[in-house]
Amino acid sequence: MNRKGILTVVSGPSGAGKGTICKELLKNNENIKLSVSATTRAPREGEKEGVNYYYKTHEEFKKMIEEGDLFEYAERYGNFYGTPKAAIMENLEKGQDVLLEIEMIGALNVKKMCPDSVLIFVLPPSLEELKRRLVGRGTETEEQIEKRFSMAYEEIQTLKEYDYFIINEDVETAAKDIESIIAAEKNKTERY
Ligand code: 5GP
Repeated sequence: MNRKGILTVVSGPSGAGKGTICKELLKNNENIKLSVSATTRAPREGEKEGVNYYYKTHEEFKKMIEEGDLFEYAERYGNFYGTPKAAIMENLEKGQDVLLEIEMIGALNVKKMCPDSVLIFVLPPSLEELKRRLVGRGTETEEQIEKRFSMAYEEIQTLKEYDYFIINEDVETAAKDIESIIAAEKNKTERY
């Protein structure tokens, strides 16, 4: 029987280090494909079309929703973010593992649609450290940081749907933790 890939979803508060952990994980695991999301937010400095996101206008994004091109989507900080359906389905069918780095509402919707998906929540070592990282990366204004920080509080309150939690003390260990989770999930007999 053909084995499908594992769909892993990583979420966590802004500044918890999800992006860096996912990069580290992908560097060492060629079979895991990162899903590139569509978004209406403007590119940050250094971000590239088709690598970090597919950048869309609100009209284009709305059309994607209407045409059923998105697996899930959510609004966040006034912008829309969504996972293109075709690419992830194709990869999973081919037996490739797929990684989504998305916020909680989207993650919970994925779990509803695909109960076999694996939800992982990345926590910062502490809220002080989270604040320090948000300020340190210097990509948001003070107002945006405050918004993201208060959102982090809310997210941390509603975690019970997640399958695993990892604390990002250091990136390599956190990436290895996710690698072990995916390996363990692959061994679950009901997937075959
Ligand atoms: P950022 O603007 O920092 O790139 O992303 C903001 C938030 O949107 C992050 O929590 C990120 O994980 C989430 N996000 C990125 N892509 C998607 C997506 O396709 N769907 C959903 N639901 N959230 C996303």
